[in-house]
Amino acid sequence: MASTVAAISTPQNTGSIGIIRISGEDAVTIADRVFEPTGKRRLTELEGYRAAHGFVVYEGERLDECVALVFRAPKSYTGENVVELSCHGGLFVLKKVLRAVFSCGAVPAGPGEFTRRAFLNGKLDLTEAEAVMELINAQNEQGAKASLSALEGALSKKIDALSGRLISASAQLSAWVDYPDDEIEELQEPVLSKMLCEVESSLSSLLDRFDAGTAVTRGVETAIIGKPNVGKSALMNLLSGYEKSIVTGIEGTTRDIVEGTVNLGALVLRLADTAGIRSTGDEVEQLGVERAKARLERAGLVFAVFDLSRPLGPEDEEIITLCKGKRVIAVLNKNDLPTVADEARLKKLFPVHAALCALDGDGLAQLEEKAERLLCTKELDTSQAILSTERQRKNAESALSAVRRARRTLESGITLDAVNVCIDDAIGFLLELKGEKAGDAVIDEVFSSFCVGK
Ligand code: GDP
Repeated sequence: MASTVAAISTPQNTGSIGIIRISGEDAVTIADRVFEPTGKRRLTELEGYRAAHGFVVYEGERLDECVALVFRAPKSYTGENVVELSCHGGLFVLKKVLRAVFSCGAVPAGPGEFTRRAFLNGKLDLTEAEAVMELINAQNEQGAKASLSALEGALSKKIDALSGRLISASAQLSAWVDYPDDEIEELQEPVLSKMLCEVESSLSSLLDRFDAGTAVTRGVETAIIGKPNVGKSALMNLLSGYEKSIVTGIEGTTRDIVEGTVNLGALVLRLADTAGIRSTGDEVEQLGVERAKARLERAGLVFAVFDLSRPLGPEDEEIITLCKGKRVIAVLNKNDLPTVADEARLKKLFPVHAALCALDGDGLAQLEEKAERLLCTKELDTSQAILSTERQRKNAESALSAVRRARRTLESGITLDAVNVCIDDAIGFLLELKGEKAGDAVIDEVFSSFCVGK
């Protein structure tokens, strides 16, 4: 039997209200040991969905005045008995109350333990549990909407629909292969092929939306790169809305990476302002240049900044080379000054470009529009199913490969049981995506990113 766990569920900070959540079979009994109601009925006498006003008292000492909410299994977030003590929001008092709850029989909840219990008790599937975390971390309207629809089951329903079609085909194929003498209707090849094509195209479009989906939920790692003095820090500050990076005319000022998360339209950008790329004898600056290159390597979006007021130099050429194969927007900066650089060449090299004056923000709207278009976030319908984590993407991709294999096997005329093996693989990956067949390691990994108390 799982133990009864407790944790502070509100932020580890001072607030007007702080909530201690207790979940498990003994939640109500344990809460009852520290809770003295103002009214006549003790917590143990309350049915679910009831609130009681009272005091937290431990070893004769009144610790706080609070409201206790009682939920009875299975009608609670975790599916277990749950009590939430809404106390005053000072951390000192909250910790004292929590210690009293531990002394009365609860044990500390691990990261994401309440949501994990909800998952294990069938209240949520794994995609919905992941959506809880996405919703908590949402940085903008689009991200919150996408996470909320995942929490309401948009992705789950889509995966159910796809796996449902594969499961019924597989069942029919198995019956037909296993009982050839029975009068089981053969699954017609064109029907099977059509179904596989449709599932394939649904999975493909889900995967196509992954980048746009994560761009509005988790954010895109974005590297700002360029030679020294092109206006990288000015761009960082413009996007951040305040002076985050030091802007000077002195080369080599930004030596390490300056980071920040900003909204650009519907996009969430996890920005990194990097050291200006150039050859330098300064050891510290050289380290910064190496870090800038590494950041560029792993970035999902690159703002390659060029200074229109100066001719392009060897460092610009290096940046042009480094950007090959990356998702890049060339930022043609200092367009308030007379143009000296070969602008036409830059525009040809970088089909996606935006002219900008990073000092006053002229051109920012255009940069925003280009970034949204490049990441396809404009047309993203957040009420639809969206894959939002790398785990989900990998499972969907493996399912897609298996469906493609099934279709190719069918087309090449190999026996139907070989087709069925591929269909079964695809079903396995889809069930794993929802958590129905996920192993402990996968589940541990998902919940390790959760905070304590959620
Ligand atoms: P970084 O080394 O690439 O980070 O460049 P900074 O952001 O520090 O800018 C270098 C210099 O260029 C500073 O003196 C800025 O004021 C100036 N600067 C940056 N952007 C612009 C711009 O759009 N127009 C003009 N005229 N000057 C700019």
